[in-house]
Amino acid sequence: MSTKAHSSCEHALHMHVCTECDLVSRVPELQRGERARCPRCGHTLAKHLHRRFSAPFAYAVAAVVLGLVSLYFPFISFESSGISKAMTLPDALLVPYRYGYGFLSYCYLIGVLVLPFAYLGIVIYLHLGAISHTPAPGGRFLTKSLRHMQPWVMSDIFVVGVLVSLVKIMSLATIGFELAFIPFCLFALLLICTMQSIDYGALFERHCGPLQPVALRAGEPGLAQRVTGCRSCGQPGVVNERGRGNCQRCGDALRARTPRSIQVTLALVVTAALLYIPSMALPVMTITSVGSSEGQTIISGVLLLLSSGDFPVALVIFFASIMVPVAKVIALLWLCRKTQQPYPSRMRARMKLYRIVEFIGRWSMIDVFVVTVLTTMVQLGQIMQIVPGKGIIAFALVVIITMIAEMQFDPRLLWDALEHKADDSAPDKDDAMVSQSALGQDFSQ
Ligand SMILES: [Zn+2]
Ligand SMILES: [Zn+2]
Repeated sequence: MSTKAHSSCEHALHMHVCTECDLVSRVPELQRGERARCPRCGHTLAKHLHRRFSAPFAYAVAAVVLGLVSLYFPFISFESSGISKAMTLPDALLVPYRYGYGFLSYCYLIGVLVLPFAYLGIVIYLHLGAISHTPAPGGRFLTKSLRHMQPWVMSDIFVVGVLVSLVKIMSLATIGFELAFIPFCLFALLLICTMQSIDYGALFERHCGPLQPVALRAGEPGLAQRVTGCRSCGQPGVVNERGRGNCQRCGDALRARTPRSIQVTLALVVTAALLYIPSMALPVMTITSVGSSEGQTIISGVLLLLSSGDFPVALVIFFASIMVPVAKVIALLWLCRKTQQPYPSRMRARMKLYRIVEFIGRWSMIDVFVVTVLTTMVQLGQIMQIVPGKGIIAFALVVIITMIAEMQFDPRLLWDALEHKADDSAPDKDDAMVSQSALGQDFSQ
């Protein structure tokens, strides 16, 4: 690192402390469509999106309208041996609950109904305030809430769960797509568009004011300068000798490093690994057909799909339900171990792994929604009935606990060891200038 980089102090208006590797970078004024990435780990520090307020607002309004329509009308119909039954989306709350599996109902209620609508409601409220230049009361708190809610909004996963459920029972009954099906699929799609189009930097600026200036040296870790980046609003904030402080912009608690990150992550990962055993060994549902009952585990479900020739769906379930939880546990254990073993050439690969774990973990919820949907649909008394099994509770807990474990892991610890190892591994000032990507092209200033 050059001495010039150490000695140069810049205004925080252009400074960002990366929340994933702790490097301080100077971010130039961004033009529309540009994105600034951390030169060390590639994390997005800031972006300036097209139609930054009107696009999320429009997507969210359309999603809410379609979502409300889909709640009112029948969703899917199911016919077997001359008996037919139509399922609405609110039905999926009641049936698992009736069988004593309220936990499934709560997962569905929170992930598929409450959080998506609450998320969209907050997006509309905040963007309406931003478009009309009227400060929205509670805007600061609500903008922070949006970020925390996002991983738990699971309407897209539910749609995939519904499609998998249909493939599973297609050979046993006639399936009908009712009025609410297409609107709900569009609702899930528009929800993804809403999430992708939100410009948090602009939203925080509108509701919490501009970034406050703090004198910082680019190219050095924030910890060495007693500052850290706010994980909510991105404001660099001063921390005390114990690494704690409060964000002057949004009021969030600042932590230079997540307290006891490795210990908490390891405890959660071990818990998830133990729960994985009953989740695979116990039946996730029991299928009763013409008097005979048969318990089905996740593994036997995949084998059944393979024997009936449904290879794509069998692969989806195999990866999402069997491989991903194991891979996630192994990856988190490996990342915890690697906080003690810094190798400069492997840091980017480690960060890539961390981001893959962050992205794929929630998709394992597919099987939880498959059981919820099948239990709700297949209720034809003596002819055919599907009841949840204890394995699905253990499995849902595995998914939720690994998601929390990944959130508890602090990736900055991977870089701390590197900082201690060698000074020459730190980038110089030129490297600390972020690269901007406009229309897919990166350039350095
Ligand atoms: Zn970074
Ligand atoms: Zn903040």
